[in-house]
Amino acid sequence: MSLKFHLPDEVNCNNEKFRVFITKEQIDERLAQLGTQLDKKFEGKRPIFIGVLNGAFIFLADIMRHVSIDCEVDFMKLSSYGDEKVSSGQVTELKHVDANLEGRHVILVEDIVDTGLSINFLVKRVKEMNPASVSVLTLLHKKDATRHDVQLDYVGFEIPDAFVLGYGLDYAQEGRNLAQIYVIESHE
Ligand code: 5GP
Repeated sequence: MSLKFHLPDEVNCNNEKFRVFITKEQIDERLAQLGTQLDKKFEGKRPIFIGVLNGAFIFLADIMRHVSIDCEVDFMKLSSYGDEKVSSGQVTELKHVDANLEGRHVILVEDIVDTGLSINFLVKRVKEMNPASVSVLTLLHKKDATRHDVQLDYVGFEIPDAFVLGYGLDYAQEGRNLAQIYVIESHE
């Protein structure tokens, strides 16, 4: 049975209007390119993909199906924005990784890097566990909003500093099931 994707052109979420910004075709095409790059880079290294919950769960599931080398998966979870559209500026770890990362090639998988606070925190946390290498893969990057020192090895799309929704990303827990990425209209 194939999936029936939810693909409206416009959505209303928590009384805000959003319009389609990155289509399913664009996402599929970019994920195939990223999968090829990851296959080449990590061939024979059995990397461990660590998805950052909750937002990265769809991206992680899809990118893994574009990778054909041996690999593993695990998850970490940080405190979230809550129901707001702006960061609280504080990060705490809600779920630690289960795997032993010592000597492993780690690929941290984020849905979006905004200020860079979360990924900066995660890279430091993972490095404390003596991995062989740490790489960062993010679907989206708000370059103009990034203030923290971050090295992003693989970026799906550079996007402007506007609130986005869908493909795993939520607004007050809604909208994660949208198969495309939407941008808030009021930021136009
Ligand atoms: P940062 O720590 O880089 O400021 O923010 C990273 C986290 O903030 C992401 O993992 C995501 O949960 C949330 N976030 C940042 N920008 C957006 C956005 O435009 N839309 C949504 N839904 N979440 C965002």
